[in-house]
Amino acid sequence: MRELFIKWRYYGLGQTEYKKCMGIIFSNNISGLRKANLIAAVLTFFFAIFPIITENDFAKTKIYLISSIAAFIMYFFSAYKKRQFNQKKQISRSLIYILIFLFFMNVMMFGLYLAVWANTEKIAGSFIGILICVLFLFNISPVLYLCLMLSAVITFITTVILYKNPLVWNYDIQNAMFAGIVGLIFGWQIIMNRITMASTAKKLENERDSYYDQSTVDELTQLKNRRDFIQTFCRYNSNYRETDHFLCLAIMDIDFFKNYNDHYGHPMGDECLRKIGKALNDLNAATKIYTARIGGEEFALVWFEEEAAHANNVTSQVIQMIRDLNIPHEKSDAAPYVTVSIGLHITKCGVTDDTQILYDMADKALYTAKRSGRNRAVDSTSLAISA
Ligand code: GH3
Ligand code: MG
Ligand code: MG
Repeated sequence: MRELFIKWRYYGLGQTEYKKCMGIIFSNNISGLRKANLIAAVLTFFFAIFPIITENDFAKTKIYLISSIAAFIMYFFSAYKKRQFNQKKQISRSLIYILIFLFFMNVMMFGLYLAVWANTEKIAGSFIGILICVLFLFNISPVLYLCLMLSAVITFITTVILYKNPLVWNYDIQNAMFAGIVGLIFGWQIIMNRITMASTAKKLENERDSYYDQSTVDELTQLKNRRDFIQTFCRYNSNYRETDHFLCLAIMDIDFFKNYNDHYGHPMGDECLRKIGKALNDLNAATKIYTARIGGEEFALVWFEEEAAHANNVTSQVIQMIRDLNIPHEKSDAAPYVTVSIGLHITKCGVTDDTQILYDMADKALYTAKRSGRNRAVDSTSLAISA
């Protein structure tokens, strides 16, 4: 019994999964509210003009119009809130609950007037069924669902008994009970399907993200790999902001790394790459500098600068950072420890869409750094000046 209750209470998902999925789809209620109020506004408006045509009864029209105007106001308000939501603004849950309640009260009062007070001699028709069907537009908890449904059915039955001719109200009661039971079963099923779909979509999205991460991370160093670098560099080159004046690309290569491997062995070479990878990952975590391993012992750094001169400070700091790792390298002609050479290219944002040109410029600068003694950074602009 308890199990059955828990299954009902959390749409068969269990408490934690239910809360997660509800969190995902709860704000869709703002869209449900917009639709529900539009349906209510249009329907009540037609009901408002109907008595003028058929019965010349302006009193009824006035009452229906109040309901229609209220629904229109709530429609515009929820459309406005939905727009805010689309612009990634938070909408408070209480506000959504209040709007659902107001919508419900509005339709309820309209329905009671139409089906009971203004129609004491006739059977109420399908008003309560329509009201319950409209509730399907909302993603709410089964408890709130049941409360709304029960309050509708009980209020309806009470007013029917109090105000209507006993010859007709027994049909009304049957209608209300039937609509209530059908609504409870179908409403639960519909919302359950919706949140299960949201849960599956979320799981697929997480899986896709994790596969994407796996396919873009280099196993040895845990840095981003060449594939991710190419995509990121292109994105940086096209998605810069007004304040990002310069795009900086540094290509870094370990000096005399073949000698390192030959002397210390491949596993130690891997260990050295891992240490450098960690230092670059730490740099990425501490700054906004993007870092990747783009080849065997070659790395790339990409970032934005407001002033071009700052980029040279960054490369000097990176050279010092690798030096500070203090990895002994007896077979290096540059220094007794592991060093790197860097080629830097700084470009004004938006100058070219061809990232290969930018890459080649940085690569040329790296080549110059290697030729002029290694363990240094060369800026491609200095090449242009010296050429
Ligand atoms: P330079 O200063 O001109 O860059 O000289 P270098 O010896 O570093 O350059 P070279 O391109 O001749 O050698 C690169 C070496 O990097 C060769 C290769 O054994 C080593 N290497 C590339 N990938 C890996 C790797 O994943 N693990 C290890 N241990 N070594 C690697
Ligand atoms: Mg190399
Ligand atoms: Mg090298």
